[in-house]
Amino acid sequence: MNTLLEVSNLKTWFYTRRGIVKAVNGVDFDLRQGECLCLVGESGCGKSVTALSLLRLFDSPPGKIVSGKVMFAGIDLTNCPLEQIRRVRGKDIAMVFQNAQSALNPVFTIGDQIMEQINAHGRHSRADARRKARLLLEEMNIPQAENALNMYPHQMSGGMKQRAMIAMGLSCDPAILVADEPTTAVDVTIRAQIMYILQELKTRRNMSIIFITHDLSLVREIGNRAAVIYGGRVVEIAPVETILTDPAHPYTRGLIACLPDISTDLKRLPSIPGNTPNPIDLPEGCTFHPRCRDVMDVCRSTEPALVNIAGVHKVACHLYDNAGAFIA
Ligand code: SF4
Repeated sequence: MNTLLEVSNLKTWFYTRRGIVKAVNGVDFDLRQGECLCLVGESGCGKSVTALSLLRLFDSPPGKIVSGKVMFAGIDLTNCPLEQIRRVRGKDIAMVFQNAQSALNPVFTIGDQIMEQINAHGRHSRADARRKARLLLEEMNIPQAENALNMYPHQMSGGMKQRAMIAMGLSCDPAILVADEPTTAVDVTIRAQIMYILQELKTRRNMSIIFITHDLSLVREIGNRAAVIYGGRVVEIAPVETILTDPAHPYTRGLIACLPDISTDLKRLPSIPGNTPNPIDLPEGCTFHPRCRDVMDVCRSTEPALVNIAGVHKVACHLYDNAGAFIA
């Protein structure tokens, strides 16, 4: 499979009055043609800022990409001219945000908002743009798509709005869709519909998807590979099956242990002790060490490198040596 996007040592920091917020602190991953790569982790671990950094969509200042590369089609998106990245946004790489309610403009109809996106990267007649917008809503399984074009966001249910957002994302036939927690604000039936739509898109359009979630059960449904993020870094990356059945990093093992299992009669779900680190004051060494049961002296002082432990399975943990062998 072709590699479409390559992210290496990406660091996005925010310079605030309280200090430097190291939201993304050395992220590495690649994305291949037609695959769904899930970025997984607890809230505050740096997933969403990683996604925003791909297209430089954060406020700058206070945010700044202080190092690293995001290579797409031979261009480094971290430092190319603004005009160049504007051509990539929406056309080659599109984003679907987690809260459709706040991402949609309440004073324009859904049709106008989708047509605006369609015309952002090429001129179409109004009739052509409207026809394309209707087809996109139909692809999203929105009933009576022609009527839905005339609706304002407040006239739509949460699920319809989220699907309209995905339609907007697809309006310029992007090669990559970045979906940031697209099912967070919808109920379980709508969640199932959105997951089905994304799976369909991947198959039908051979589209590459970066799917951001804190929910490992969704990763199982849609992902080909998963990158587990903690403290602004990828700590483990592997095919989803490997992550779920043979996790190597103690944090990933903790996340999997927290998955609900309806076959047991546990009164209380297990959890990982402690909290995600404050990005303004990250712990020395391995950022997971204050919460890790396997912590060793070296973990408190030295940041582990991301090493290959088996095939395409990589992990950043001192339990493995630089050749990827388990040492503890
Ligand atoms: Fe735990 Fe050490 Fe591995 Fe970090 S490097 S996850 S503290 S064993």
